[in-house]
Amino acid sequence: MVSSTRRSAPARESAASAAAAAPRPPLPWLDAPLAQVLATQRAHALLVYGPQGVGQLDFALGLARAWLCETPAAARPQGLACGHCAACHLVDERSHPDLRLIVPEAQRAEAGLPVDEAGSDDEGKKRKPSREIKVDQIRTALNFAELTAGRAAHKVLVLFPAEAINPIAANALLKTLEEPGAMRFVLASGAPQALLPTIRSRCQAVQLQMPTREEALAWLGAQGVADAAVLLDAAGGQPQAALALHAAGLDAAAWRQFPQWAAQGQAAPVAGWPLPLLIDALAKLCHDRALVTLGQPARYFAHSELRAGNLDALTRWAADLRRRSRVAEHPFSAGLAVEALMLQARL
Ligand SMILES: [Zn+2]
Repeated sequence: MVSSTRRSAPARESAASAAAAAPRPPLPWLDAPLAQVLATQRAHALLVYGPQGVGQLDFALGLARAWLCETPAAARPQGLACGHCAACHLVDERSHPDLRLIVPEAQRAEAGLPVDEAGSDDEGKKRKPSREIKVDQIRTALNFAELTAGRAAHKVLVLFPAEAINPIAANALLKTLEEPGAMRFVLASGAPQALLPTIRSRCQAVQLQMPTREEALAWLGAQGVADAAVLLDAAGGQPQAALALHAAGLDAAAWRQFPQWAAQGQAAPVAGWPLPLLIDALAKLCHDRALVTLGQPARYFAHSELRAGNLDALTRWAADLRRRSRVAEHPFSAGLAVEALMLQARL
């Protein structure tokens, strides 16, 4: 469980941002598709997509690393990056002069980029970081790529998540996708259908597959996650999300006990949880209790820990949790919110 000695996390901290401080561990299930794309890729623009959590960004950065690696290709098995030359280190540190990684302001930490202090609006209130890729980001990256000489023969622009690009930024990007020059683009996406068809049609599509459960459990075990199956279920089968839960301080024992705490309205054991994590856990509990009520297997929790309920009440609860999740990142009295949320969970 989240240690009681751990400093109470700020309400706006999410599981994803808590995990961002650690370097991104390699994802072995991406090696084979990476080697295949490196051997067959001919287009200047790739659209890398797959289920949420498969590692689209890691795959895009893997491509960038391989393209920019300075170890002779003959010395690199399957064309993959060597992982130890100066260029590989610069990519890992996000400071390679020929790589531009374009992400929404809100996802900089997740992408391993330095996070600026949150800006302020005219009244001096803290502004929420943007969840869109904006046109200024695209223009700045394109200008930089066109105007500067770097170490490598080409420049690489990575967009993640590509579906976050807003319509004006998408149009700015389109022009360059038509005449890319020495630039290579990787659009990494968990929702490619949300991209403009004109953008999709200019990219070579690369579809990634989730690792098997055995692969995911072995990987989580190698990252030091104990009782990994529980956290993998808690994360809906997404290994990176499971690792983020682990990094946020959640462990398997706490997840197993959570339905009991909720049934009794106990706020104390979850007082140190970031509010978005708690709301996410309650939404999953509500989802699973609805499944149990319908006689179906649970998805996130152990089936035996769950009570059936009243479907109308569970539906209203789910709607209320969705509303709360939209404001969960606003700083407000988190302690009161935790108590109210756990009392509500007794239904
Ligand atoms: Zn290298």
